[in-house]
Amino acid sequence: MNLTAHNTLRIAARADQVLQIDSEAALAEISQQLGQQPRCILGSGSNVVLHAPIPATVLLSQIKGRHIRPQGVLVAGAGENWHEVVMWSLAQGYGGLENLALIPGTVGAAPVQNIGAYGVEISERLINLTAWDFQSRQLHTFSKAECGFAYRHSIFKDPALQGPWNQPRFFITQVQLQLAPIAKAEVNIGYGDLKAAFAGHSNPPSPMEVADAVMAIRRRKLPDPAEIGNVGSFFKNPIISNVQAKNLRLLHPDLPQYPLTDHGSDQCKISAAWLIERCGFKGARRGDVGVHQGHALVLVNHGDGTGREILALAHEIQQAVVARFGVFLEPEPVFMP
Ligand SMILES: Cc1cc2nc3c(=O)[nH]c(=O)nc-3n(C[C@H](O)[C@H](O)[C@H](O)COP(=O)(O)OP(=O)(O)OC[C@H]3O[C@@H](n4cnc5c(N)ncnc54)[C@H](O)[C@@H]3O)c2cc1C
Repeated sequence: MNLTAHNTLRIAARADQVLQIDSEAALAEISQQLGQQPRCILGSGSNVVLHAPIPATVLLSQIKGRHIRPQGVLVAGAGENWHEVVMWSLAQGYGGLENLALIPGTVGAAPVQNIGAYGVEISERLINLTAWDFQSRQLHTFSKAECGFAYRHSIFKDPALQGPWNQPRFFITQVQLQLAPIAKAEVNIGYGDLKAAFAGHSNPPSPMEVADAVMAIRRRKLPDPAEIGNVGSFFKNPIISNVQAKNLRLLHPDLPQYPLTDHGSDQCKISAAWLIERCGFKGARRGDVGVHQGHALVLVNHGDGTGREILALAHEIQQAVVARFGVFLEPEPVFMP
């Protein structure tokens, strides 16, 4: 089966077999049938690069269902659309997810890379999640601490927990998040464009107003995958030592740097987009793939680009950035297979 409609880069990779997983019971049954046969998991495909035919069964994450328990505990099935859940929770009178509005993808994939935007990561709201373990063939509940969250990372992205070519051990089925009633919700508007959007306001905005501002900023800045294939940011912002950052600042005073107070005092995050733009890649094109005109961090498929071409361009960018700045850019999406 062709997977073009199942990945936002719109790569035309094929898979041996595609199965829809719409309940935990279906997952248990399919797990039994598949045994040790190769498998992989896809949500909306907004954070994957499919770069060859997939010699495996693709399990589509489609477990639905959402409700909010007393005390503001949101329970959502892995196959729910993330943005719809964010907007629904606000409409139900609960804040907490507004900074993460309009991030594409499913609820189940959100903890995999600890999605984050405008100063908030899902790990800050997560209570626990439930996942099917293909090894023990049982459901397992992971506390927040057990998920091993870091910047765009969790244990579910950890190669040690994967089989050959990223074969996943765990299928996340449900996520529980702690929200706050809107009247008590504390909004976070301290980050970049969001701070600017509310500069001069005397009263703090409501969570809904924050969501509206986030959506307006994202629509202005990020290319819509419905119009041009992409997976959002292709590289993580590098985290480097303060010593290396200081040396870089001497040579490049305008390199954006963000001190990491919560990661110890000796590290800071720098802008991957700035590094790529300075190497002259913004708007570059290699055949049918390229770097977006307006955003140097976004690689795009102009039409018939292949996963292999995307990887070649990513590699070219990594080499240029290392050669010029001595900094390695780590890709954010997952490569399959
Ligand atoms: C325009 C655009 C903007 C973006 N902006 C942001 C942003 O601001 N912040 C951010 O963090 N990300 C961003 N992303 C990346 C992406 O939206 C997120 O990573 C999202 O969580 C991926 O969801 P998905 O359902 O598409 O996952 P997929 O791409 O289908 O899968 C991603 C990974 O998760 C695994 N996976 C999926 N579902 C499950 C499951 N149920 N159990 C176990 N593993 C699973 C897959 O096997 C794969 O390894 C953006 C992407 C795009 C296209």
